[in-house]
Amino acid sequence: ITYITTPIQVFIKLTVQYREGISGFNRFYEILQIDPAIKNHSNPQQLKHVHGNIEFKNVTFCYSETNIINDLNLTINAGEYVAFVGPSGIGKSTIASLIPRFYDIQNGQIQIDGIDIKDMELTALRKHIGIVQQDVYMYSGKVIDNIKYGNPNADKKSIIEAAKQANAHDFIMKLPNGYDTVIGEKGAKLSGGQKQRLSIARVFLKNPKIVIFDEATSSLDNRSERIVQNSLERLSKNRTTIVIAHRLSTIRNADRIYVFSHQGIEEIGTHEELMSSYGYYRKMYLETSNVN
Ligand code: ADP
Ligand code: MG
Repeated sequence: ITYITTPIQVFIKLTVQYREGISGFNRFYEILQIDPAIKNHSNPQQLKHVHGNIEFKNVTFCYSETNIINDLNLTINAGEYVAFVGPSGIGKSTIASLIPRFYDIQNGQIQIDGIDIKDMELTALRKHIGIVQQDVYMYSGKVIDNIKYGNPNADKKSIIEAAKQANAHDFIMKLPNGYDTVIGEKGAKLSGGQKQRLSIARVFLKNPKIVIFDEATSSLDNRSERIVQNSLERLSKNRTTIVIAHRLSTIRNADRIYVFSHQGIEEIGTHEELMSSYGYYRKMYLETSNVN
């Protein structure tokens, strides 16, 4: 019933937010973040600290009629580094977007540290989750303010530290005005890899326990990919990390790889395990590594 009015409301709110310059990570997630259909309980939990255990219990989800996710069960322990792979359009990004509750599921439960995310205060829930995507959203403004999105109260020292952790400090220092360089339409142009690193710096600054990396390096050249990959590995320390990978070479070290097919989870294992089981993953890996 609300389906008809929601997109319009969302669009208006987005435009306002955009102009006010308080927008979040990127347009896509931003639209979802302000979905007015997703609401807090009357008495939600604040949850100051989380460990980062994630559990999907019999989760079913559809955007409209067709089910994207059917009866999905998965458990990711705090601090683990897991990867989602599978054909495009299979639902990997959708699964990831359910964790910050950008959409509500139709059936089942998603828990963080054993608590249903629907019982958690929305802002608090999303504070614990950092997202890096392929299309990084930057707004026209100073580099420093673009990083500050991650934590509006951060001081300059911690912003620089976050940039260093993200392998962004050196290129920022080479910009005409360093951290005060204006980027965007009328300012300095950044490469895809540089934007990625700024968005990783945001996440370092935000310091969440859960990190989602959604095909973030898939459009980068090999050299930038390596640099971004290196900052991601640093970011994933002591955090639960979900990497949605396009290039399978980037997830060889994952604790566990979930291989999705139209049937749901097709295979689970480490790179070595999946390679030696001669299944779908191996086939995919050999096909794509020939191309790269
Ligand atoms: P993947 O990340 O594995 O490529 P997605 O999760 O993006 O797959 O998409 C899964 C399916 O859901 C696709 O068929 C896609 O077209 C559809 N889909 C994705 N986002 C939306 C949306 N916001 N509204 C409706 N359908 C969507
Ligand atoms: Mg995707």
